[in-house]
Amino acid sequence: MPLLEFTKKGIYCKQADVYLDPWRGVDKAIISHGHSDHARWGSKRYITHEINVPIITHRLGKILVTGKKYGETFQINGVKFSFHPAGHVPGSSQIRVEYKGEVWVFTGDYKTQVDGISTPFELIRCNTFITECTFGLPVFKWEKPLRVHDDINRWWANNKSNKVTSLLMGYSLGKVQRLLKHIDCKTGKIFTHGATEKMTNILRQFIDFPKTELITRDTKKAEIGGNLVLAPPAVMGSTWAKKLGEISTGYASGWMAFRGARRRRAVDRSFVLSDHADWEGLLSVIKATGCEDIITTHGYTDIFARYLKENGWNARTEKTKYEVETIDSEVI
Ligand SMILES: [Zn+2]
Repeated sequence: MPLLEFTKKGIYCKQADVYLDPWRGVDKAIISHGHSDHARWGSKRYITHEINVPIITHRLGKILVTGKKYGETFQINGVKFSFHPAGHVPGSSQIRVEYKGEVWVFTGDYKTQVDGISTPFELIRCNTFITECTFGLPVFKWEKPLRVHDDINRWWANNKSNKVTSLLMGYSLGKVQRLLKHIDCKTGKIFTHGATEKMTNILRQFIDFPKTELITRDTKKAEIGGNLVLAPPAVMGSTWAKKLGEISTGYASGWMAFRGARRRRAVDRSFVLSDHADWEGLLSVIKATGCEDIITTHGYTDIFARYLKENGWNARTEKTKYEVETIDSEVI
């Protein structure tokens, strides 16, 4: 019997009777991070990294949840579990599972780049590596993040000198805070959408961020003018965005590496900034884990697994309900 198996409810450890990131309600769920496709509603008990506790509680309401630190081991029926940094968003964890000397690692989502807000990715040696591959194509090769942040700061300064407001969009958990952390505050004020402000305030108890101001019904257009507004991608073209006055739109996402995606979104400026590993990132991690078996869960799973097999790895794909964030997804 494998240590972890893929069932209708999620990734299951029979020996411990516990699920990892289940997509249906279960008795006991171990959760990798706070994004909505990994932390789902309906389970009786949750165990996750301590940073995820307020995030998940905010998203799922009243739940029974226990927080753990990175590297802290807990045992369930002889199976040892521990969380290790995945570098994807604050609190994101790889879940290490060990039983009778055999080690499996489930990555959830991860990246190898250091983003300034998440604890950097930790490499864990294992026998079986269950990996995401959202950007598992050779075409995906990320630039140095600091260059992208410089571009963003220059774009804002330029808009400011033209008295145009900069509307910068990214996912509410992780991406927006990463943008905020690297914004040049000397250029002007930073305003936020409600969803952005809420999540940022939750994370302020763990991470220092520049001051932000929530846009309310009372906020005057003139106050916002020329400043920066951070918001989720869902505001694109909305009446909320129209109220901001004259704007230049920017969108930060790994998908911006695709020309078609840029056109589809019709943003003024696209910034290629991803919270997932690129092709080289995925391969370098897989090699370094020393694993014998690889299971791909979401992203370019078939192509990526085929490449691994052609290069001598024992790789296969399993179906999961983890979503690949796409250019058109309205995840806030
Ligand atoms: Zn995620």
